[in-house]
Amino acid sequence: MVEEGDVLDNPAVRTYLVRMVGEEGLALLEKFDRELEKTDEELAAETEINLNSVRNTLYTLYGKRLAQYRREKNQETGWLTYKWKLRLDNLNDALTQDMENAFEKLSEREMYEDENDFYICNTCGVVYTFNDAFAIEFTCPCGTHMEHFDNELLLNALKARVDAMRTTLGKV
Ligand SMILES: [Zn+2]
Repeated sequence: MVEEGDVLDNPAVRTYLVRMVGEEGLALLEKFDRELEKTDEELAAETEINLNSVRNTLYTLYGKRLAQYRREKNQETGWLTYKWKLRLDNLNDALTQDMENAFEKLSEREMYEDENDFYICNTCGVVYTFNDAFAIEFTCPCGTHMEHFDNELLLNALKARVDAMRTTLGKV
């Protein structure tokens, strides 16, 4: 999914990362030499990004396996130092995993829309499944009689998106 060259130049990757760590996080990624190990304090000093923000970004990246750390113990003081290193080589896996998750959710939604019949209260705009509507005799708690709700447009849009994702993920 991500071509050779610098991954941070890829617009899709940038969008993905900004959603994950924000603009400041992306700025950190751009300034953090991928070959080097750094402590959070070194990174904050070098990039002039606030230490808390640096830490949040590192923890978030760690959760996606896009950063790793190594603990070093100072023999004199006993203090532990955490040395961080970027693992942007895992970016493809992280992107694929996120897309897989989105695909699962959309597929479930598609199935739900496909398998259910819907009723709507045109006064409050609440949509009920057939079973829920049947249980209260097609009368919304507000007193309005429900009408059948046609979800065909929504269902078609969902199907199109699910199909496109299935192709991208090579599930065809
Ligand atoms: Zn109502």
